[in-house]
Amino acid sequence: MTIRYNVQLQPYNSFRTKALARIFCEPQTAEELSDAIKVFSNERKLVLGGGFNLFFTHDFDGVVIKPGMKGITTVAENDEYVEIEAGAAEEWDQFVGYCVSRGYAGLENLSLIPSSVGASPIQNIGAYGTEVKDTIIRVKAVNICSGEYHEFSNEECAFGYRDSIFKRTGRYVITAVVFRLSKAFAYKEKYVDLSRELEGIATPSISQVRDAIIRIRTRKLPDFNLLPNAGSFFKNPVLTTDEKDALQKILPDATVYNVGDNGFKTSAAFLIEKAGYKGKRKGMVGTYDRHALIIVNYGTESGQEIAGFMEEIQQEVKKQFGILLEPEVWIF
Ligand SMILES: Cc1cc2nc3c(=O)[nH]c(=O)nc-3n(C[C@H](O)[C@H](O)[C@H](O)COP(=O)(O)OP(=O)(O)OC[C@H]3O[C@@H](n4cnc5c(N)ncnc54)[C@H](O)[C@@H]3O)c2cc1C
Repeated sequence: MTIRYNVQLQPYNSFRTKALARIFCEPQTAEELSDAIKVFSNERKLVLGGGFNLFFTHDFDGVVIKPGMKGITTVAENDEYVEIEAGAAEEWDQFVGYCVSRGYAGLENLSLIPSSVGASPIQNIGAYGTEVKDTIIRVKAVNICSGEYHEFSNEECAFGYRDSIFKRTGRYVITAVVFRLSKAFAYKEKYVDLSRELEGIATPSISQVRDAIIRIRTRKLPDFNLLPNAGSFFKNPVLTTDEKDALQKILPDATVYNVGDNGFKTSAAFLIEKAGYKGKRKGMVGTYDRHALIIVNYGTESGQEIAGFMEEIQQEVKKQFGILLEPEVWIF
């Protein structure tokens, strides 16, 4: 395994902010990863996938581990389903394309999400009424402190909305994920945008669904190669009954929906827009004009400038509506 020193992280994050990693390694197998963890036992550690959901505000004084495990293998199969193991470093959308082209159903709604396979369970990636947790049966990982191997069942992953045990503890490096996908595909109308895109097709095929999602996402979201960003910047806030009532007094048209015992969820994009921040630009940072939830980088290399803009949005939304927006993006 090659170990490099003082590595520039700008190409490794989709916000393209500059920072140096004092040590950088890319283990190709779980064994190499376990060895690296033991060798660098006294160093701080940061795991890096595709870098689509994080950015750097300062140099990292420790070891950045970029899992390099590749490979897509069928590990079990019957008439109804197939179980496929994919290495952490596999590019997510290529993996989805691989499954869709073979008629394996379950991941098609997650097409074009920028991710590595290894990061997909971390925040339980989701889109168009689907969450990756519904297809994951096992996650293989290495403990980031001890270097020991672990295998998690779906239940042990403790998935939640954009959440998992991996995100909550930060204790494991994922090396591979095993998915169970159905050999039968039946399109279910779950999402208005998608149904509209598929209008006129009586029974859409799995490939038609994937293509439709790719078209919608390409239209709606900024291309991070042209306009660096990390997707949705803030989580949709969950409110107590009192907070919900207070919000609806100020913004009667705010949509809120019940999320059971957990309270009421409302739209962060809506709050940002109402605070006057949709399409607003300050210096080299701004929100995307077609989607208030996405902060875009117009040319800065400084993560601190992005973090400063984030704080300004948080303060304004808090001042106007009494709600603190929490970042979904990781800031290092
Ligand atoms: C344009 C755009 C659109 C997006 N749309 C969506 C969307 O529709 N739905 C959605 O859910 N997300 C979306 N995202 C967010 C992003 O796609 C996901 O968070 C994705 O899983 C990030 O993957 P990554 O490999 O880049 O992880 P990174 O950004 O590199 O890492 C994210 C976190 O996971 C940890 N991590 C990464 N790999 C591993 C590993 N192997 N083991 C342990 N920890 C690891 C990192 O330490 C970090 O804490 C979008 C992002 C962008 C830029």
